[in-house]
Amino acid sequence: MIATGTPIIEARGLTRCYGKRRAVDRVNFAVAQGEVFAFLGPNGAGKSTTVRMLTGYMPPSEGSARVAGFDVVVDPVAAREHIGVVPEEANVYADLTVWQNVMLMGELHAIGRRRRTERGTELLGLFGLLGREKQRGRALSKGLRQRLMLCMALIADPEILFLDEPTSGLDVASVHAIHDVIRRMNRERGTTVFLTTHNIEEAGDLCHRVAIINQGQLVAVDTPQALRSTIESRRSIEVRFVVPGVTPGDVLPDAAAAEVVPLVDGFRVFAAEPGRLAQEIAIRSAAKGIRIAALNTFAPTLEDVFLQITSRAIAASKGTPVDALTA
Ligand code: ATP
Repeated sequence: MIATGTPIIEARGLTRCYGKRRAVDRVNFAVAQGEVFAFLGPNGAGKSTTVRMLTGYMPPSEGSARVAGFDVVVDPVAAREHIGVVPEEANVYADLTVWQNVMLMGELHAIGRRRRTERGTELLGLFGLLGREKQRGRALSKGLRQRLMLCMALIADPEILFLDEPTSGLDVASVHAIHDVIRRMNRERGTTVFLTTHNIEEAGDLCHRVAIINQGQLVAVDTPQALRSTIESRRSIEVRFVVPGVTPGDVLPDAAAAEVVPLVDGFRVFAAEPGRLAQEIAIRSAAKGIRIAALNTFAPTLEDVFLQITSRAIAASKGTPVDALTA
């Protein structure tokens, strides 16, 4: 049993070197029981390497990690009893049927026949795989294979689920099926989920907290909402005119200083106080007889946050001073 409040996953100074290169560099974070937590980062950022260390597939070069209260190097077997894993390069047994794949995993976890039959049927239903029990692994599309992998990871009802890029390259229906089940497992069973993704929307929509990893280093850890609020200056206004050809100088109070992105029939302008600027644009347009077709304000997206934070981290690695970031 894990005490409430104790992190269920904890990394301290976690590091992995390949040769002289630090693929994961002194990473610190803690995941609470019942959280859906994302590692968000571009290709090669160190996401899979982190998952491999946390799940005991690869020893850290430095630092330590605890999962379900067990050190993953000292007590790897005990830690693994609490987890289900879908690694990035995982695959189903091609010669076995859908049902045999799931039952085999149940047997490996020593789950009794009755329980594994019940749970297996339930999981195939949740993932839209009922009716395909007799199909062989090799006959499944990538999306169906990934759903089956999740069924196999969930058959033992793990407290913690590790998913490395669970929806990368999948069709929309499979992405929905997988997201739905992740939410459901988390809500109904309290399953903690640690997933990696390079998909910003996935991290923002699905996860309670997001850690942004870039070049092996964590550059921010927070809720999607808090991450967005760190860059409020990225709020913007999009203005479109009935007749194209209006320039920013026609309607903006200080066009030369503004950050403007041109559109076919208007422009987008970034502003710390978009409401006030929108009013100014409306007043100036009216005064000049310029008709506005649409005027909207936009909050910063997680993509804006990601780009800003990763570019600041790159600047820092080149010696440019940066603000302290939550990590
Ligand atoms: P992706 O989204 O492309 O899978 P990632 O964020 O999961 O990327 P990792 O796979 O952890 O990143 O790789 C981090 C870095 O370590 C990359 O530069 C990668 O080339 C390197 N790397 C990963 N595995 C090995 C290995 N076994 N030997 C040498 N270098 C490796």
